[in-house]
Amino acid sequence: MNAYDAGRMVDLLQQSHTLSMVETPQQADLIILNTCHIREKADDKIFSELGRLKKLTNRHDPKKRYIFGVGGCVGQAQGAELFKRAPFVDLVFGPQNYHHLPHMLDQVLQGKRQLHDIEIPTESKFDALPSAPNSGYSAAVPVQEGCDRFCTYCVVPFTRGREWSRPVEDIIQEVQNLTDKGAMEIELLGQNVNAYLGYDQEGVEHDLALLIRQVSLVPGVERIRFITSHPADMNNDLIAAFAEVPELNSYMHLPIQSGSDKILAAMERGHTVAEYLTWIEKLKRVCPKITLASDFIVGFPGETEEKFEELLSFIKETKFEKLGAFIYSSEEGTDAYDMPDKVSEMLKKKRFEKLMMAQQNISLEKQQQFIGKVLRVMIDEKKKTQKDCYIGRSEYDFHEVDGVVHVNSEKELSPGDFVDVKITDAYEYDLSGIVISD
Ligand code: SAH
Ligand code: SF4
Repeated sequence: MNAYDAGRMVDLLQQSHTLSMVETPQQADLIILNTCHIREKADDKIFSELGRLKKLTNRHDPKKRYIFGVGGCVGQAQGAELFKRAPFVDLVFGPQNYHHLPHMLDQVLQGKRQLHDIEIPTESKFDALPSAPNSGYSAAVPVQEGCDRFCTYCVVPFTRGREWSRPVEDIIQEVQNLTDKGAMEIELLGQNVNAYLGYDQEGVEHDLALLIRQVSLVPGVERIRFITSHPADMNNDLIAAFAEVPELNSYMHLPIQSGSDKILAAMERGHTVAEYLTWIEKLKRVCPKITLASDFIVGFPGETEEKFEELLSFIKETKFEKLGAFIYSSEEGTDAYDMPDKVSEMLKKKRFEKLMMAQQNISLEKQQQFIGKVLRVMIDEKKKTQKDCYIGRSEYDFHEVDGVVHVNSEKELSPGDFVDVKITDAYEYDLSGIVISD
């Protein structure tokens, strides 16, 4: 979502102030840090990066007036406070306000300083954004933003705001614009994407399953992915879409966060381990080839050695293809911030490493099952370091956490080409193989 937002800021400023991207901060006139606040002392990281950039640009050209901006969730969380630690910053804004950037920039150019805009606006930023001037063959489209779940560890509801779904026609129009410009794969984005509930012009409600079906009807759409989903927002229609919509990739990222009911309750996730497993079983029944990824937080308050062992057994039994494991980070303003029975940093790290070690073997075992199989691969790019070798992705794509296919082909291929690839080798994250047809 942040990558999407950053791209749209570029489109917007290109149109309003004919700005374009440059290679290095020294060459820039405007430097924006688009920030994430989800974990690991996000604020400290941003302040040290700002300090580094300030020094770098100053050393490069002490007379040049560089304009600095901080957007994204740290901008939203800090607001005007940010100027206390970084007084040279000119613009602070949040993920819902970046469509105000041209106006804010005008004010800075007129001599105003230290502007901040973090009031969540009543209008939708999407209405104010220009349509994307170009598209890669794989393009992201936000369909839902914000979150109302308030899991006790998470800052998203505070920084991205309340849950909100875009109207159906707006999404379809954006998809059409992107496919007209060459997109073949559409990635539907949302903080809690399967909570999507949007309306069409007739006032008919669409959930994510129905939206996926509509996106699949847009000419030029070859593949659809969506991320990230919540177990408590699953439904049977979404599961059926995996069997019934050929364009939908056979991959689902469904975070569970913990393997213990007690911890899930303390996280206020709104589901149990057994309920989660029921969804997974249904997914596998409807789409036996589906690959699954999940997220886990290690070291949540109250995680005893015994509960951690429960988590380990859970991942060993469930065998996800991919795992996003995160060391719990205590975030001010969240309910878990004041919870007792904190786990020490050392123990959290030790458990995290143990979890990753266990998953390494599982991932490798899962990837090896692809050896000898033929996968339809969409080519991303030519490898610079290896002759006749390309990087692409199959429908079991994990590309948010690696998971590419290294494709050997004597015939010249271009990004966006689809080829059938026979898998010859498997690694923990990636596969490699040779083209057998195009
Ligand atoms: N909406 C999704 C996830 C969004 S946040 C969901 O509910 O599953 C992305 C991931 O960051 C989460 O899956 C979680 O594992 C991790 N995360 C969020 N807050 C965290 C925190 N305070 N400490 C550690 N990991 C965190
Ligand atoms: Fe955060 Fe996801 Fe929970 Fe929402 S559902 S509060 S985004 S972890």
